[in-house]
Amino acid sequence: MAKPKGTGVHPAKVFAILPNEVRDTVDLYLNGKINQWYSQQERRAETLMATYDAIVIGTGQAGPSLAARLANAGMSVAVVERKLFGGTCVNTGCIPTKTMVASAYAAHLARLAVEYGVTIAGGVGVDMKGIKARKDGVSGTSRRGTESWLGNLKGCT
Ligand SMILES: Cc1cc2nc3c(=O)[nH]c(=O)nc-3n(C[C@H](O)[C@H](O)[C@H](O)COP(=O)(O)OP(=O)(O)OC[C@H]3O[C@@H](n4cnc5c(N)ncnc54)[C@H](O)[C@@H]3O)c2cc1C
Repeated sequence: MAKPKGTGVHPAKVFAILPNEVRDTVDLYLNGKINQWYSQQERRAETLMATYDAIVIGTGQAGPSLAARLANAGMSVAVVERKLFGGTCVNTGCIPTKTMVASAYAAHLARLAVEYGVTIAGGVGVDMKGIKARKDGVSGTSRRGTESWLGNLKGCT
């Protein structure tokens, strides 16, 4: 078979966009090297698709519930998380902000205590390190809860 004429484009990029039917020709042109590497990637993807009925990407608000529904319906499910279990709400969104708002409210109420006939000796102070530690603790509990829930879910990887 005659070699195709070179295009001047990097071979890996050319190969990546070629349809299956011309791969043999390109393989010949590239002496098999890049074709071999690309086939490995394809085989990995095929193995994943053959192993799981569903792949859920992300463990934010939707991912874990969806994974649980699918796993409980008897499907094998793979969950992929690139960063932190729980996503935005648990790690940087709703939970941390509301935890700190709760601390601010406690300080506010403590300062108003005298109006309710409650005295606090020594005045009311705010310990930002303590507030952050509490916030990290609440987020961490939620994050670990999400992780162990998914980890213990039958049929879910
Ligand atoms: C400061 C702040 C305060 C908020 N307060 C509230 C509130 O009080 N009430 C409220 O209802 N909403 C609040 N929100 C909004 C709420 O956090 C989001 O709407 C919600 O978390 C979105 O959920 P999600 O699942 O769509 O996305 P996310 O929670 O962002 O989850 C997406 C997940 O997918 C993962 N992911 C993404 N791409 C990939 C990939 N390619 N491979 C693997 N994993 C991937 C991410 O790492 C992440 O874990 C707040 C948001 C912020 C920023």
